[in-house]
Amino acid sequence: MTSYCRDGFTFVPIINAELITTDLHKAAEALKQNNIIALPTETVYGLAGNAFEPEAIEKIFSLKKRPFYNPLIVHIKSAEYMTHIAKDIPEIAFRVAMEFWPGPLTLVLNKKSIVPDIITAGKDTVAVRMPNHPVTLELLNSLDFPLAAPSANPFGSISPTTAAHVARYFGEDLEVVLDGGECLKGIESTIIGFEGEQAVLYRLGSISAEDLEHVVGKLKHHTSDDSAPAAPGMLSRHYAPSTDTFLTKDVKEMVFSHPDKKIGLLLFQENSISQNVAHTEVLSKEGDLNEAARNLYAAMHRLDHLNLDIIIAEKLPEEELGKSINDRLKRAVKK
Ligand code: AMP
Ligand code: MG
Repeated sequence: MTSYCRDGFTFVPIINAELITTDLHKAAEALKQNNIIALPTETVYGLAGNAFEPEAIEKIFSLKKRPFYNPLIVHIKSAEYMTHIAKDIPEIAFRVAMEFWPGPLTLVLNKKSIVPDIITAGKDTVAVRMPNHPVTLELLNSLDFPLAAPSANPFGSISPTTAAHVARYFGEDLEVVLDGGECLKGIESTIIGFEGEQAVLYRLGSISAEDLEHVVGKLKHHTSDDSAPAAPGMLSRHYAPSTDTFLTKDVKEMVFSHPDKKIGLLLFQENSISQNVAHTEVLSKEGDLNEAARNLYAAMHRLDHLNLDIIIAEKLPEEELGKSINDRLKRAVKK
């Protein structure tokens, strides 16, 4: 018999009723067998495998259909653990780790040889973070290896922020989706690297550039290059719904210029337009950018399952997390 799990206002059929679980022992056993599981973090759900086992890492790449040139983030259980997998760590890296970990900040550091090349796409740097989710921290503490974990979505598509989103993508391929509820941050980690003691921003994310700059001083920016992406989140089309998506400051005007289309709206705060619109998602009635980030991907998933002709997304204010959300929306639009 097929069972279902709720995903917003739709239901996702689950072929394996045991798939979504809180059983940490089962998760740990699967990982020790070099199998892949899905797990919650405060940013988005991840597809995790033993970071020291190339066989496990290959499975992540093939499940996600992720190109091998895109390296993975290694999730560790403590800031001290950084020194097991990275070397020549600048003083500033310890300082930001102390300030933001556990949390949605990824550090790109020089790798030690214990980290397989497949994780780092042959680079001599490794991306590391200590996630801030009680379920995943408990799991990491029960293991004697760190976990490589990219987001649990097929490459390029909308990231998952619930166990149901993961089940919809990979229900037939996984045996364990650890359920940790809705992700509290809702967009990916901010990624920085270092040139000496200078911090370099590779990807905007759940920690705003402003908050980082309070700790590291002025950031150097390095965030968009399709030919040689330092981070795949930097590809110009990524995080994309299958429905054609537009981004604009003037939603009203764009609605009226598409009179014959079945339109879905993705709005920041106001919901003043109802004419000619099939469905509207409001990210934060209060205009709170943190809440908007938390709701972003779930709203995109819902819109993407309504058989709309187009999605019109509203550009958010270019400040704090508004910049990170706009970054994701820009990459979601039809090119
Ligand atoms: P995801 O977990 O799917 O959001 O993707 C992980 C992110 O970390 C990607 O944007 C990667 O490119 C980035 N990343 C991982 N390793 C490195 C590295 N050595 N240098 C730069 N970025 C990295
Ligand atoms: Mg991703």
